[in-house]
Order: sequence, then C-alpha cells, then structure tokens
Amino acid sequence: MGRIQLKSVTKSFGDVQVIPPLDLTIEDGEFTVFVGPSGCGKSTLLRLIAGLEDMTSGTIDIDGSDATDVPPAKRGLAMVFQSYALYPHMTVRKNIAFPLRMAKLDQAEIDRRVEGAASVLNLADYLDRRPGQLSGGQRQRVAIGRAIVREPAAFLFDEPLSNLDAALRVGMRLEISELHERLETTMIYVTHDQVEAMTMADKIVVLQAGVIEQVGSPLELYRTPRNLFVAGFIGSPK
Ligand code: ADP
Ligand code: MG
Repeated sequence: MGRIQLKSVTKSFGDVQVIPPLDLTIEDGEFTVFVGPSGCGKSTLLRLIAGLEDMTSGTIDIDGSDATDVPPAKRGLAMVFQSYALYPHMTVRKNIAFPLRMAKLDQAEIDRRVEGAASVLNLADYLDRRPGQLSGGQRQRVAIGRAIVREPAAFLFDEPLSNLDAALRVGMRLEISELHERLETTMIYVTHDQVEAMTMADKIVVLQAGVIEQVGSPLELYRTPRNLFVAGFIGSPK
C-alpha cells in the first residue's frame, strides 16, 4: 500500500528548471534514500511527492491511482519534519495527537493510536511532558510519532537528523531502520550524508542538479557506480 510512481515530472521556479523530466518508481515497503549535494533538488522532489509543491508537468501515482491533483492531506503520506517543528506549549501526547484532532477522529481512536505510537517509540513515560523537557532524540521521536499515528502509506523524511549531534544521529538512524522493519511501510529519506544513505537504504537514488545519476542498492552503487559522480559521492573505488 505505498507504491509511488513519478512520470515525466518536472519542476521550475520561474525560468529555472530545477527538476528536468524525471521518472522514478518507489516500490511498496521499500526504504528509499534520495542522496546528493546541497541544492540538487532532494527537498523539492520530496515536496512534489508530498503535494506541498505543485509539479510544473508530469504525473504522480500513489497505489496505482493518479494523485497528481490530490491535495497533500489526502495523499495518505506523512512528512516527518525536524524536531523543532513541535509545538512547545503542548504536551507530547497533544503534539502526537495533533494531526488526528485536525482530522476529527474520535477521542478513543486518538488515544489508541497515540499510545500505540508512544509504545513503539519508547515514549510512553513521556506523554505528559513538553518538548522543552525532552532530549533531542526524544523530540525527534515525537516528530516521528506524529507521522506514525496517521497510519500513512508512506513516510517522507527530509534530513530529519541534521540538527542532532553526531552520537545521537547514529542512534536515531538505527531507530528509524528498526521502525521500517517493524512497520514495513514505504519510507523515502532525504539526506546529503553518504554514510546515512549507505547504511539505511534498500535503494539509493543519487541526484545531481535534479537529474537521477543512478538508482540501486548500496552494494550495486558501491560495486558498479555508473559514472565518476556516483563513484565520488558514494566513495567507491571507480
Ligand atoms: P536540496 O534539498 O537537495 O538541497 P532543494 O530541493 O532545496 O535542494 O533545491 C533545489 C534547487 O531549487 C536549488 O537551486 C534551490 O535554490 C531551488 N529552489 C528550491 N525551492 C525554491 C523556491 N521556493 N523558489 C526558488 N528556487 C527554489
Ligand atoms: Mg533540502
């Protein structure tokens, strides 16, 4: 329930085309990483998939139906923002429940989902705290919890760990990978960090200036990089 297909997608800002025609299929359940240098279009691509940005041309299918004109809230996808997007005045429980209150789910269902997410993320003892009373890693888990409760067809992460310190980042990488194994839900993860890409991905999409240079498993990219850019970026010995 989370196959995403981009067909001839382009994006221009004014006269500048940042995504030339691009085709990409993300298989259901896959952990796909978009990797590439700053400014190559990773966030733009993710925002096009989320519906937060309109495509200039092309189409997007989600689960086999055309979602090109479907508004973001109805696409069944959940974007995970960095932890500083939490509401400081709300408890963890209220922060996680927020999208469900917006969707007007009944309270019993909200409680069930929030407690489920809190248990998966080891936040059960922190539901009554506010974000300011949590560590960076716990705050990032709350941001992920807010996505989990929506039971999305896919999770979209945009450099979620970039404001955490190095040690915490390693731990959170593992936690997100474990979450993927447990939920078996499609995840698209944007990063400019090669190590993150190589250690987390089922499939890596290497981008340069809006163009897909190569798509493959970490091992494929390492062993058979298609060009010097991929070799240089992945750190393989071509
Ligand atoms: P990345 O996430 O890989 O760092 P972005 O997707 O943020 O890259 O940006 C890709 C290119 O599009 C950059 O050249 C950036 O300046 C440009 N860009 C992104 N958003 C906008 C916008 N809203 N208006 C104009 N240009 C933009
Ligand atoms: Mg970005």
